[in-house]
Amino acid sequence: MKKSYTITLIPGDGIGPEITKATIRVLEATGVHIEYKICLAGKTAEQQYGCSIPKETLESLYQTKVGLKGPLIVEPGSPPIVIGEPPRIYGSPNAALRGESHIFANVRPVKRFNGVPGRFSDLPINIVIVREVSEGIYVGGERKISSERAEATVVATQKAAERIIHFGFKLARNENRKKVTFVHKANVLPYTDGLYFNVFYSIARGYPEIVAEDRMIDAAAAQMVLNPLIYDVVIAPNQYGDILSDLAAAIAGGLGLGPGGNYGEKIAFFEACHGAAPDIAGRNIANPIGLILSGAMMLDYLGENEAADRIRKGVEEFLKRGENFTPDLGGTGTTMGIGESIASLIETAK
Ligand code: NAD
Repeated sequence: MKKSYTITLIPGDGIGPEITKATIRVLEATGVHIEYKICLAGKTAEQQYGCSIPKETLESLYQTKVGLKGPLIVEPGSPPIVIGEPPRIYGSPNAALRGESHIFANVRPVKRFNGVPGRFSDLPINIVIVREVSEGIYVGGERKISSERAEATVVATQKAAERIIHFGFKLARNENRKKVTFVHKANVLPYTDGLYFNVFYSIARGYPEIVAEDRMIDAAAAQMVLNPLIYDVVIAPNQYGDILSDLAAAIAGGLGLGPGGNYGEKIAFFEACHGAAPDIAGRNIANPIGLILSGAMMLDYLGENEAADRIRKGVEEFLKRGENFTPDLGGTGTTMGIGESIASLIETAK
């Protein structure tokens, strides 16, 4: 009998509902049966529940253990989110969703597809960024000391460092990748980044077939623009990974193409690497490919690897043909147009 899955679907804010609709059309085209429990988060949830992470959404994630998520709007300078007893404090609804689901790894594959215009269109960029998301500066807690002084704490622990670095090396081994680069600023943060740095080289010894190297984050960013082909798998503490993954997505063809997966011990949810793009929301012109490829990562996680490959092939074929591109790729096409085109490529290839 054919397997059926139930997942939590968070359409999110801004362009989220549009790109979600196009992604569902593509997932349906694979023939994998998925039931969606639609839940709210972010601004959309605030309007209905008075809070950006309603307990119904968390309960659904705990129950289904798998989610697909659109982006959430976070106004700069908005107050932190407090959840539970004793209170857990998060800087944004995204951080809260990850924290409450015990997510520790955010994985962002960055690939240059044929047919995508851009400055680096002749380079076969193929990088996976593995970002630690359970600690670092985003989860250490910020404090307002006075109207003229604020502080934030960076958290680094041996346990989380070992977990993410093993995760990154195992991913490299499973995908037959040759090199893992650790990015840091251990020269000026000897205790926090230094801890990760030491753990990195001690764990690297257990993966002798993979080249292990490190780079300072500032030089790593410059090198990613000057020579992206030197990167294969990149392991990064929270904030550096956040910045590098947008940078990598941008050089590989634009934010609209980048997928992402958030992995914990028990729960995983998948989301594109871009934000809610309020400047283009509601106009059916957002590129849904980042979320569509995130849907493929979700199918891999569910063990539906063949269906996931069919989505990736559909995306590759669509981009190669160069038709019906959305404005971010230089065309005049629509969000749903891309969803329909990729879905019919999958259906006709069956
Ligand atoms: P953004 O990624 O939303 O947008 C940056 C630029 O890229 C904009 O010009 C936008 O139009 C464009 N863009 C992004 N995604 C696109 C797509 N799929 N197709 C075509 N163009 C696309 O970043 P921002 O403007 O800095 O943030 C907007 C909001 O999103 C903020 O509230 C921010 O906090 C939030 N955000 C959420 C997440 C998340 O939920 N994971 C991540 C990043 C930002």
